[in-house]
Amino acid sequence: MAEIIIRNLRKEFGSFTAVEGSSFKIEDGEFFMLLGPSGCGKTTTLRMIAGLELPSSGEIYIDGEECGRKPASQRDIAFVFQMFALYPHMNVRRNISYPLASQGMGRAEIRAKVEEVARILGITDILDRSVGGLSGGDRQRVALGRAIVRNPKCFLMDEPLGALDAEFREHMAEELRALHDRMGATTVYVTHDQLEAMQMGDKIVVMNHGVVEQFGAPQDIYDKPATLFVASFIGSPPMNFLRFHGKLAPGATEVALHHSRFAIPAARAPFEGDMVLGVRPEHVHLSDTSSYRARVLATEYLGTTQIVTLQTQDGQIKARLASDQVARVNEQVGLDFTDSTITLFDAQTGHALRSELNEGVLAHG
Ligand code: ATP
Repeated sequence: MAEIIIRNLRKEFGSFTAVEGSSFKIEDGEFFMLLGPSGCGKTTTLRMIAGLELPSSGEIYIDGEECGRKPASQRDIAFVFQMFALYPHMNVRRNISYPLASQGMGRAEIRAKVEEVARILGITDILDRSVGGLSGGDRQRVALGRAIVRNPKCFLMDEPLGALDAEFREHMAEELRALHDRMGATTVYVTHDQLEAMQMGDKIVVMNHGVVEQFGAPQDIYDKPATLFVASFIGSPPMNFLRFHGKLAPGATEVALHHSRFAIPAARAPFEGDMVLGVRPEHVHLSDTSSYRARVLATEYLGTTQIVTLQTQDGQIKARLASDQVARVNEQVGLDFTDSTITLFDAQTGHALRSELNEGVLAHG
């Protein structure tokens, strides 16, 4: 069990800044996701928590103790790489027991611990098999076993499911999450897959170009994105963006796009300039009475819902509609949005503007 606090953490490689002043808190026992596109600094952040990389500046507190410069071996943390890194010449039992044997633990105690871990992972029957002939899933369980057996207070995992095909990946993701819930050790997990982060995480840090864009529970990040980047990175299809120029007075509850008025969550601060109206596809509706018109460009049937692509005067947007709703290609339709879910952004900075919706979640402005 471990609480981890990251404060103004920064990492430079020569003149390149890989991590720029990150700050966030990982609660004891949380399943915590570091999410972002390739090269955004996730692995570097994880390696600094592990003690495999020295921060250029900033602090890492593990259970209240600053340990940014402490050697990895003194942090009581298990780092799980892509899980196929097993010792091929050893059988399953020896792979799992290796960390204990190298600590000098007695044989009887090692045996008991390995068998307990094997029971947790459901691999008791393969303990004496060679790892060479095992299926991908069993190899993965063995690699996990080797991390668990030390009973560390924290697990760090770097894209552990990256090498698996989609179906098996989903299965292992469920297994990992269930294992976490049984053991309760803090887990920090790196992924570039927003769905995986949303499904598995208690909390998510979204990074881009070395910067923490937002930090919070999956639903908050989905419902109240703090930046245009987060809004477009999370969700599939992503949030729609409609750009317009306008003026907001504090308390304003509507905006005008091409003479059509849309209700919004009340603005908390004045703003004038280029804005972006963000609305998720499931909050776009067809409306006979709306003066905001669009042309249906395409429909994609998905079973219970369909994704409808629409051409508006402000660009293309996508709506997720019930599949029994009729939308014909080339038809002109009116559009309406669920007002309480709209996020407005400053087009220049990309930051969400303060409103009733995102009051309290914004890291910026
Ligand atoms: P990926 O999923 O592709 O690994 P990431 O978000 O984990 O992406 P990092 O591995 O943390 O990204 O790398 C962040 C940036 O820092 C990248 O541009 C990378 O090239 C750079 N970088 C990482 N390690 C080093 C290093 N040892 N020397 C120089 N540059 C580095």
